[in-house]
Amino acid sequence: MTGLMLPKPCLNALPMGAHSVIAITDEALFETCGVRIAFTSREGGTSTGPYASLNTGDHVEDDLECVLHNRAIVLEAIGFAQAPLIVPNQVHGTDIARVSKASDVPAVAACVKEGIDAVMVETPGVGALLNFADCLPLIVVAPDGRFVVAHAGWRGALAGIAGKAVRLLAECGQDAGGFNAYIGPHIHSECFETSEEIARQFADAYGSDVLTDSRHISLARAVMVDLVRAGMSQDRIADAGICTVCNSDRYFSYRAAGGVCGRHAAVAIREEGSLC
Ligand SMILES: [Zn+2]
Repeated sequence: MTGLMLPKPCLNALPMGAHSVIAITDEALFETCGVRIAFTSREGGTSTGPYASLNTGDHVEDDLECVLHNRAIVLEAIGFAQAPLIVPNQVHGTDIARVSKASDVPAVAACVKEGIDAVMVETPGVGALLNFADCLPLIVVAPDGRFVVAHAGWRGALAGIAGKAVRLLAECGQDAGGFNAYIGPHIHSECFETSEEIARQFADAYGSDVLTDSRHISLARAVMVDLVRAGMSQDRIADAGICTVCNSDRYFSYRAAGGVCGRHAAVAIREEGSLC
């Protein structure tokens, strides 16, 4: 199946659902091929304190009932209440889990709890949700409606998880030049001071343009270089352009919170019976 041509990626923050969830999404993508992508913010959930309010991470000592309720709120907001959801425990690796058919869900849902940082979904009606608080959320969508949701912290970005996601999606014979990629809110270079050694490794891997000085890395630029090397077109990569540290009132930020905070989500799902 070759699929149709996706619209150029375009991200906008919209209120979604009954709980005032504010999610960054691509409406034209959904209208064209039935794939709903969303980067959630802190708004619209039931958690309190440092987790207020839409925390979707279940590994941060928040009340589990609130977390599960929050995930249900996210699904309702994006129009897929009750859909099965794959939620990995993230471990800063580059492995990618794969859901090829609905019957894969129970086994994959259990397997990703052992630790994985990306999920490819090839079947409609199954969502993938990953959790973030400064690391870079990446969603790549192919014209046939398959997608990968990936977690790129500095380790994953350096190890090439973005390019790996594109190459896996392209394995079915699709031209990566027609894929769309979406980069969600994450820590920007001005707030991301690291060691000169790590910065050097990024420059060696992706070119010196990914550094803003000897200690500051642009994760987005590194991921973009990786995506383009894997065959994507630069004009099909959209960046929400939001720094989580500078906007910790609206997004969870591990650095801004000193380590105790919730997680916002990157989620994607394809409508049953969509054209592609
Ligand atoms: Zn910042």
